[in-house]
This record gives sequence, C-alpha cells and structure tokens, in this order.
Amino acid sequence: MQLPNHLSIKDGHLNSGTHDLVDLAAKFGTPLYVTNEDQILDNYVRYESALSSWYPHVRLLFAAKANGNLAVIRALARAGAGADVFSSGELNLALRAGMKPDRLLFNGSSKTVADLRLAVETGVRVSVDSLDELHQLSKVASDLKKTISIAFRVNPALEVPTHPKIATGLATTKFGIPAAEILSAYQAALDAPYVVPVGMHCHIGSQILDVEPFARAAAVMAKVAGEVTDIGVDLEFLDIGGGLGVPYHRETDVAPTPEEYAAAVMPVFLEGIEKAGISPEFWVEPGRWLVAESTVLLTRVNSVKRAYKTFANVDAGFNLLIRPAMYDSWHEVIMANKADMPGKEQVTIAGPICETGDIIAADRLLPVPETGDLIAVLDTGAYGFAMSSQYNGRPRSPEIMVKGDRAEVIRRGETIDDLCSTMAIPSWQQE
Ligand SMILES: *Cc1c(COP(=O)(O)O)cnc(C)c1O
Repeated sequence: MQLPNHLSIKDGHLNSGTHDLVDLAAKFGTPLYVTNEDQILDNYVRYESALSSWYPHVRLLFAAKANGNLAVIRALARAGAGADVFSSGELNLALRAGMKPDRLLFNGSSKTVADLRLAVETGVRVSVDSLDELHQLSKVASDLKKTISIAFRVNPALEVPTHPKIATGLATTKFGIPAAEILSAYQAALDAPYVVPVGMHCHIGSQILDVEPFARAAAVMAKVAGEVTDIGVDLEFLDIGGGLGVPYHRETDVAPTPEEYAAAVMPVFLEGIEKAGISPEFWVEPGRWLVAESTVLLTRVNSVKRAYKTFANVDAGFNLLIRPAMYDSWHEVIMANKADMPGKEQVTIAGPICETGDIIAADRLLPVPETGDLIAVLDTGAYGFAMSSQYNGRPRSPEIMVKGDRAEVIRRGETIDDLCSTMAIPSWQQE
C-alpha cells in the first residue's frame, strides 16, 4: 500500500515522521488523533505551486469545516492560507488562528443577522447565497455605516461523480443562486447601499476524483464573470471552491494530483477571463486535500470476538469518525504494532457505539488480532474529529500534533465531567 509521506514502518511499528505511533498511544492514551504538521504544509505548498505556475494571482482558502483545530488552521495561516468559513464559530477560529479578515470568505446558505453583523464588523468577504440575504446584509451594513465586499455563490447546476450527500452544485441543492438569475442578483448588489460586489463563488462538491467537473465549473464561472463585468461589476476574484478528492482506497483509487487539477482548470479559467477582459484573483477552497492524509486515528483493540465474522472491538467508533457510517467511506487500517506482519485473517474493526452501523472497516485482511493491538485508521485529518460527537456518553479523544521530534497536545481529551458541564438539573427536580 502506498502510505502518506509522513508514515513509514520501522521495526514493525507504524511511525509518523520520527514518532513511533505505538509509543505515542502509550504516552497519550487511546483513542488518539495524531496530526503531522509537515504533511499539511507540504500539501499546501504543492497545491499552491501547481496553480501559481499557471497564474500568479492565486489564493488558497482552507475550508475550515474539514478540520477546525486551531493548530491546524494556524499552520495553514503561517503558510499563507486564508479560510473559507461557514459559521461565526469558524470565522472566530480563523481569526484566533491568526488569519487576516481579508483572507476569509464567510460562506453559508443560512446566516443569521448576528452572522451578518459579525461579517461587517470584522471586514471579511461574504459569499451571499440569496437575494433575501443580500437585502439583510445591506441593511446591517447601512446600520453600521460600513461597506461590505461580497461575492454571490453561483449554483452551476453540475452533476458530479461523488456521494449524493456531498454533491453541492446540483441544480436541486440548497446552495447558491441559479446561473440564470445571477445577473439580476449582481444588479441588485450594485444598487444596494453599503454593499460592493467584488467576487464570484461556487463549490460543486466534495471528494471528487475526476478533474473534468472542475473544468466545467470554471467554464461556467468565467462565462458568467464576463456577463457580470458587462453590467459594471469589477470582479476582484473568482472562487471555484474546493472538492478535490483523496485516494482513500490506497490500493486502488486513482486520484488526480493538484498538477492535473491545475492543468484541467487553469486553461479554461485563463481563456475565460481573457475573453471577459479581466484579471481577477483565482481562489480555491481545498479542505480535504490539504489535511486528510496528515492524520491517523489510533484506536486500541478492547477484545476480539470470533463469531459470524472476526470482530476486533476497538475504543473509537462513529462518535470519533463518522465517515464510514455516514457516507459508506473507506479508510485504510493498519495494525500499528504489527505493521510488518502479513495479513492472515479477515477482520472487521467495530467501534464501541450501541449501533449496528458502528463499523470503522469491514472485512480487512490483517495480522491475527489480539486484545491490546493498536489500529491506525489512515487519512482521518478531514471530517474526522471535526464531525465527532459525545454520542453514547463518550468524551471526545485528545488530538496531538507532531513536528520534528516534538509531539504536543492540540486539544485535550474530554472527561466525564465535560459531558455534564453544560447541562443543568431543573429546579423542580432539586426540590
Ligand atoms: C466543504 C466545502 C469546501 C471544501 O471541500 P473539500 O472537499 O474538503 O475540499 C470548500 N468550499 C465550500 C463552500 C464547502 O462547503
């Protein structure tokens, strides 16, 4: 199996960089998310270079929903990234991680007035998702007497090959303004007080393993950008969203590289903006591609049961990694303490949650499992911890980050007290 660059096998143990993951699990306990910062930085540089070799005015906005840990966002901020944020919470995380407001795009199809006020006060760009939102934003900005720069999110009505729950550019999704209505939306923005349209935004979906849909999206965007320019909008940026997939099936998936992505998208973009006579910045919003492979989830085998199948019952379930249960996703698993042993038995890695669907990986050929073995679940840096919960009364695990010979906690594990800390007993139950 082709491992992510930060992983290697030494003396039978799986390592991340210079760190033996068996030792890290012993030191910090399990379950444990381990993130390798250098892998994130390498991925950022690679993505950025692939695009900027075609066009100098490129900006990467990390999709903060993929991984909301401050240390991850800060690593990317220090590398020069901005962020695509989808809530006031993510906006604050990005600012606290050190990102500049003008590097943030506040996206979202259902913002509150408080969200809009925060956007105006902090001076981020807003991706406006409806005419109703435009008018609310204009009112908030007028009240505060502060101009706000906006983009509209275009719904490009594109079919994309991915899981239906993460195809976001279909005509029928809740996201964006139909391309046919986009001109009148920009006209409305030109007319609205305290609002300046400066960009155009779309995002067609996630975990897309084919570059052609991105090229089609870029073509739609460039065409609409030309029309919008003609009615007097001065476009400073075109943002074609995120969505480049990663090869979760490391044995078989063929995933496009950022270079292939750039080679498919940039010529279309460049031709389109030339026709339109504009030279806006080119923005992209990768989430998964930057962070997924940087992280492993370490989980300990509590018990082994040979029943209808062989189950290795581990201490992490869909409370910590919901992707297999939610999207039928595949993650590679490696026995971190037996990493050089050949596969001997079909093993199903089952979580501790009281639901049949709590299976992290089914029927994998692994070394014979024993109680105490350590399973590494690969490529869990995106939509892993970020989608975790306390379901079934399970405190969330810690997250640690490694860099060189250092390994530090970037989120402490929750305790049983944390489970109760936001709850209250009503007065009548105390009488
Ligand atoms: C989720 C999302 C992204 C990132 O998608 P990835 O597949 O993680 O690259 C980017 N932009 C928007 C608007 C999103 O909703």
